[in-house]
Amino acid sequence: MRKKFSTTSYVLFICLAFVLSSGLQGCSQYPLDTCLVTGKKLGTMGEPYVHDHNGTTVKFCCEPCLDKFNEEPDKYLAKLRK
Ligand SMILES: [Zn+2]
Repeated sequence: MRKKFSTTSYVLFICLAFVLSSGLQGCSQYPLDTCLVTGKKLGTMGEPYVHDHNGTTVKFCCEPCLDKFNEEPDKYLAKLRK
């Protein structure tokens, strides 16, 4: 009985996790696999640097790109919205 309960919970959990993750990805999936500032492929310089700009997720190849982004955020955000 106890085993049945835990199996059911496990299945429910997987379903819930799937629904939640697909729902989250649907509204926050990042469209680019390149650095917004340099255009370099993300991951080639190590872990991408993820930044939240007023609720918009942006990713850079490295942290110094954040400074360049902050100089002209609108210019770089335009790339994201293409
Ligand atoms: Zn960079």
